[in-house]
Amino acid sequence: MDRTLIEALWTLINEADNLLDSWLESEDETQSPRSRLQNAVHTVRQWLSTEAAPPPHIQAYVDTGGIHCPYCESDQLTGHSLDLEAGHVWLAASCQSCERRWEEQYTLAGVREITPTSTER
Ligand SMILES: [Zn+2]
Repeated sequence: MDRTLIEALWTLINEADNLLDSWLESEDETQSPRSRLQNAVHTVRQWLSTEAAPPPHIQAYVDTGGIHCPYCESDQLTGHSLDLEAGHVWLAASCQSCERRWEEQYTLAGVREITPTSTER
């Protein structure tokens, strides 16, 4: 797939998601046109995540351990919550500078035994 198209799709999907979040803050109906559009945005984002290689700055973000925002390179990042799936952990994160949000995927990399101490049973 064309790298320019992939980057355009990532930008579009991120902008649409941000816009939808601000709309949906005052939205009650779960099957409104806005939430159906949000479902569509999430479907495209899911496809992009699995089928299309992310833009170079996202790969750099992964390679450097997630220190600087993958969009604006700010170091004012915030981690929010963990979402566990089988074999994977998703960590929601955001940038305080450009206000973009993303999810970081972590995979099981190892195990270490926990030995009982006086504070554990
Ligand atoms: Zn940023």
